[in-house]
Amino acid sequence: MNKEQDVKKVSSALLKRKSWTRRGFVKASGAAAAVITTGIGTSAFASAPAQRVSEDGPMAAALNYVHDARTVDAAKRLSSQFCNNCALYAGTAQDEWAKCSIFPGKLVAGAGWCSAWAPKQES
Ligand code: SF4
Repeated sequence: MNKEQDVKKVSSALLKRKSWTRRGFVKASGAAAAVITTGIGTSAFASAPAQRVSEDGPMAAALNYVHDARTVDAAKRLSSQFCNNCALYAGTAQDEWAKCSIFPGKLVAGAGWCSAWAPKQES
């Protein structure tokens, strides 16, 4: 996937989300802007070994990312939302860890979640 495809995928996923809190939108927009303006997409790290994203990292903290979505307050997340069914998850539903456009060069947990979650489109 090239930079243009990364930008389109992130933008499309963020725009399709049906409800945003003001704070969540600002955080997600900032994350997307970082990906877009730095030109860092998953393709930029294709040859680098990917490491798991840290829940304590600034981007992860800003987006409330966790490795285990079941730990998220039910008021913030629908029980059906996981990284492995998010539009930005590069893996399959069976992959335990895979890349995500929001965290370039890092792996997120298939069972994880963050506030930028967007529904995966059926192809
Ligand atoms: Fe990435 Fe998971 Fe957040 Fe989707 S929910 S944007 S896959 S970290």
